[in-house]
Amino acid sequence: MAFDYDLFVIGGGSGGVRAARVAAAEGAKVGLAEESRMGGTCVIRGCVPKKLMVFASSYREGFGDARAYGWDVEDGNFHWPKFRGHLQSELDRLEGVYRSLLRSSSVETFDCRARLSDPNTVALADGKTVTAKHILIATGGRPVRPNNLGNAGLGLVSDDLFNLEKLPKSLLIVGGGYIACEFACIMNGLGVEVTQFYRGAQILRGFDDEARGLVAEMMRAKGIDLHLGTNIVQMGRADADHTVANTATGSDAAMGASMQEVQAVRLEDDASNGGPVWVKSTNGRESFYDDVLFATGRIPNSSDMGLEEAGVEIGRRGEIVVDKYSQTKVPSVYAIGDVTNRVNLTPVAIREGMAFVETVFKDNPTAPDHDLIPSAVFTQPELGTVGLTEEEARDIEPVDIYCTSFRPMQSAFAGREDRVLMKLVVSRDTDRVLGCHIVAPQAGEMIQLAGIAVKMGATKQDFDRTVAVHPTMSEELVTMKAPIRSA
Ligand code: NDP
Repeated sequence: MAFDYDLFVIGGGSGGVRAARVAAAEGAKVGLAEESRMGGTCVIRGCVPKKLMVFASSYREGFGDARAYGWDVEDGNFHWPKFRGHLQSELDRLEGVYRSLLRSSSVETFDCRARLSDPNTVALADGKTVTAKHILIATGGRPVRPNNLGNAGLGLVSDDLFNLEKLPKSLLIVGGGYIACEFACIMNGLGVEVTQFYRGAQILRGFDDEARGLVAEMMRAKGIDLHLGTNIVQMGRADADHTVANTATGSDAAMGASMQEVQAVRLEDDASNGGPVWVKSTNGRESFYDDVLFATGRIPNSSDMGLEEAGVEIGRRGEIVVDKYSQTKVPSVYAIGDVTNRVNLTPVAIREGMAFVETVFKDNPTAPDHDLIPSAVFTQPELGTVGLTEEEARDIEPVDIYCTSFRPMQSAFAGREDRVLMKLVVSRDTDRVLGCHIVAPQAGEMIQLAGIAVKMGATKQDFDRTVAVHPTMSEELVTMKAPIRSA
């Protein structure tokens, strides 16, 4: 049977675009549909704008540091609209780059939503129907608000943060994962009064305990009002004209508002009145914030796409179920990236896309490698990690722990109390470095390189015989002589 395309990709994010281009380079006739902006979450509403906001927010400490280093500078004021304008033009430019890459690869693009009609047919929202020998779903995920909380719609999600009209004076962030912690640091750096609620005992669940402990400590030291074991139980919009609402914005002010005042606040479902958000938390506290951000996780974009009707299996969290080659239960349909909820990181989606092309268009069945993936949380300081945490490793085999924490030269000279942490988890039997965890400025850059050594199976002895680069923070990774404990 003749098809319109050899491959039709649904979703123009990092994974989908890469797969489309690489397949086209193999001579495949490729079409791609994207309902929003080309570039997807990473480029338009994720990694890229987030990292630019990290840069913007990190200048604040720089003024004081510069003075300590002899520069005659005044503290500056941050202009959100100026930054946002520059940010939006940069995202426009990047979207243009993505579009031109697709054009030059001869991938035909459709700016509309697409859904499956059958295992080889895609219906486009513009009314067209196309057929393809293979269909690749790369539709990513989206942020979700808690579904058991009335009025949760009053809160923002991460997608909203890049387009804010103005920065809030006070912001409550709910969640303790990557997005919550990164935006807590960003907003704090931009001068917003940040309160963070996390329902668990420590933020960044799943990361090494000592590493996340130091990140939490540093976040608090930099001014983030972090509450653990805390969640929202009720929320509402206060009337903008109400006296209490107008005077009691922000966590400290709200702490001072009497119960009588708080109860007098008229709550509305209407998010448009511009008043502060009233929040009651599990610890009984009632507070007001200009905005609330729900960083409470993301779900796969798999609904209303005709997937189950076509025979594609959908898992409990809405993820498309695939085998190790990213193939769904329907042989002509594959899925990669966050929509499969395997490891939700851009470079992983790209790898999955390339492995898909190897498998389907190069006759070389290739399963993406999900082992020992380095990653970084762009908090301030950053947390870079690869391999097993101490807690995971000690459940598997006996380990030696090498760890050091110290004040790095650059910020110590400026009188700051910042601390960094370098930690290696080492197998006592094989001497292999099973995990490396770094909390430090630029830890994301460091862990990329440490990740190569760990992926290659480096032993502690290999680290030891590597000469230190002096003076750097990361030299500590090759100079830790004795374990601080065995576990
Ligand atoms: P995460 O799953 O990492 O975190 C969600 C957080 O919200 C958790 O702390 C979770 O608590 C909490 N939570 C969930 N439901 C509720 C609720 N009903 N009430 C209160 N709290 C709740 O999701 P993120 O949205 O932060 O990030 C999604 C993914 O995106 C990440 O896993 C990561 O793969 C990727 N990402 C990567 C980045 C990077 O590489 N730097 C940056 C940003 C995102 P609990 O721990 O108790 O479940």
